[in-house]
Amino acid sequence: MKLSGLLEFLQDLAPFEYQETYDNSGHLVGNPQDEIEGVVVSLDATEDVIDEAIALGANVVLSHHPIIFGGIKRLTGNNYVQRTVQKALLNNINLVAIHTNLDNVYNHGVSTYLAELLGLENTDILSPKPGLEYKKKAIGSGAIGTLSREMDEKAFLDALKSTLDLKTLKHTNLLNKPIKKVALCGGSGRFLLEEAKARNADVFISSDFKYHEFFDAENQIVIADIGHYESERHTIRMLHEILTNKFSNFASHYTKVNTNPVNYL
Ligand SMILES: [Zn+2]
Repeated sequence: MKLSGLLEFLQDLAPFEYQETYDNSGHLVGNPQDEIEGVVVSLDATEDVIDEAIALGANVVLSHHPIIFGGIKRLTGNNYVQRTVQKALLNNINLVAIHTNLDNVYNHGVSTYLAELLGLENTDILSPKPGLEYKKKAIGSGAIGTLSREMDEKAFLDALKSTLDLKTLKHTNLLNKPIKKVALCGGSGRFLLEEAKARNADVFISSDFKYHEFFDAENQIVIADIGHYESERHTIRMLHEILTNKFSNFASHYTKVNTNPVNYL
C-alpha cells in the first residue's frame, strides 16, 4: 500500500482542512508514492523516533505534533528540528503529522478520547466552531461531559492522577463542592478556560498554564494542569489501535521512545 492510501485514510479520520490556521499538519517529508514498509506512531517526531523507525524497518513516522512548524530556512543540523528532518530525508522516512485536525474532530478526537478514558458521559465538544460539522458531529476544541456520579474534589483529582498514571498534577484552590461536570482539553488548553466556566464545568483539565493564569480560575472552577505530554499520550495508543485494526498490509508500531522533554525529580 502506498503512503497516499494512508493519507487518504487519515483525511477521512480527521480532515486536514480542519486544522487550525497556525498549524502544519499533513505530509511533511517524503513521497506519497512510497510503499509503506511500516509505521511508527508517536506524539513527537524526534531524532530518537526516526532511529527507532530505521531499526524497525519502518518508513513512516506518524506523529501528533508536526516537527516542521515554523519556516525552515536551512538544513545544516543546527537544531533538533533540522537534524530530525535531515535524518528522515537521508533514510527515506516519511513524516506525517495529524495535529489540530485530530484535536478538532469528535470521533477519535484527542480530547473526546481523553473524556472517554475518564469515563465521562454525554460528551460534547467544548468550543464548537459555528456551522461546522463532520460525520454529523460538531467540530471544535476540547470536550465537556459529566461523571455518572458526582465526586468529592480531592477524590476526583486522586482518581485522575491514577487513571492517567500521572507523576504529579497542579491544581487551583478546591472549592468545597462536588465534581460533576468536567471540561478538558488535550495539550495547551488555556484558551478554553472561559468557555469551561461559561458552561459551568466544575473542573477544567488541561496543560501549560502559567502562574498568573491559574488566578483566572477565580474560585469558579478548579483548574487541573496535568502536563502537556500526559494530556495527549493516549493519542499514540488511539492511532496505533486504529491503524492496527484497519490495515493488515503493514505493521503499526507504538513508539517505545518517551519523547516528553519534561522530567520530574
Ligand atoms: Zn500537544
